[in-house]
Amino acid sequence: MKKQKTVAIIGAGMAGITLARQIHEQARVTVFEKSRGYGGRMAVRRQDVWQFDHGAQFFTARSSDFQLLTASLVDAGIIAAWEPRIVSLQPADKPYKRLWYEPHYVAVPGMSSVVKHLATELDVRLQTRVAAIHRFRQGWLLQDEAGQELGQYDLVIAALPAPQCIELMPAEFSGQSQLAAVEYSPCFALMLGFEQSLNLSFGAAIVKDSPIGWIAVGNARPGRSDSSSLLLHSDNHWAEDNLELPLPEVQQSLLNALADLRGIDLPAPAHIDLHRWRYARVEGESFPGVLLDEKQGLAACGDWSHGKRVEDAFLSGLILGQTLSDLLRG
Ligand SMILES: Cc1cc2nc3c(=O)[nH]c(=O)nc-3n(C[C@H](O)[C@H](O)[C@H](O)COP(=O)(O)OP(=O)(O)OC[C@H]3O[C@@H](n4cnc5c(N)ncnc54)[C@H](O)[C@@H]3O)c2cc1C
Repeated sequence: MKKQKTVAIIGAGMAGITLARQIHEQARVTVFEKSRGYGGRMAVRRQDVWQFDHGAQFFTARSSDFQLLTASLVDAGIIAAWEPRIVSLQPADKPYKRLWYEPHYVAVPGMSSVVKHLATELDVRLQTRVAAIHRFRQGWLLQDEAGQELGQYDLVIAALPAPQCIELMPAEFSGQSQLAAVEYSPCFALMLGFEQSLNLSFGAAIVKDSPIGWIAVGNARPGRSDSSSLLLHSDNHWAEDNLELPLPEVQQSLLNALADLRGIDLPAPAHIDLHRWRYARVEGESFPGVLLDEKQGLAACGDWSHGKRVEDAFLSGLILGQTLSDLLRG
């Protein structure tokens, strides 16, 4: 019997796990993830009685491949359609109601549940940051931050935001210049937990002319039974301008901006937390596609390869997986 190739995938977000599912029967696949959990930017943070989806808020499904997956995930109870009362807010104006014209989904009970579910039966090493990739005979040797060896692989794939792919991938990777052309904007996530229930007239709000870009009421989302919570995302341009500001100053600016919004009357929060997403959203409209350097045994995928959303991360893993399946079989 022909010996299976060994493949290392770095990153257990939507792209990396979708890819691993595509090829795990044709190769010996190991996924490395630096965090304690799955999902990457489809993230959840829990504190006491509160739960916050502090990364991706929802996802839509426009391609037939992703629609197929979302239909099966709805049936399995892993995701649910989210139909909040959604409004636009501006500091000087009253809230006005908006409409969503396509289904929006959230994972249940938290956004990371989708990727965790998809990773069942895969070999995923959590809390393992790949720090170096060295040439070794015909393949690659991976090391963690402490210099410990993580194994030798025929093929290494970075399923990370493009700037992190550049940092980690060996200089001989032919995709480096295309990765360098991808730009991300940052975002701050402010998490507020309350002891009283909130009396708000909306489940989600798009905010204009403010350091805040988005507000979601946590327990207005399907499958969330936690106490009252609010998740705020900063405006991406505001985050760009204030990226290196000390976090307490960012927090205060966002709280001030919240107080400036009309139609929101809140009790004092019992819990406040802030997260900085350095690589939140892909900017621009030109995407390089997945990058495969067959000669070197290196590849990269992620949302940046096809767009800027959860569905694009899925498609990037799927398309690279379909290409590699043929190569690994042959
Ligand atoms: C604030 C915010 C809001 C968003 N809102 C939406 C939305 O509403 N709808 C939508 O469709 N999309 C949204 N997105 C975008 C969406 O989250 C991403 O497009 C998608 O999740 C990207 O998946 P990915 O697998 O490409 O990358 P990631 O999810 O970033 O996965 C990369 C993984 O690699 C891991 N990693 C990094 N370096 C290493 C290393 N050296 N070793 C091991 N592991 C490593 C990371 O921990 C991470 O788990 C949002 C993103 C953010 C940050």
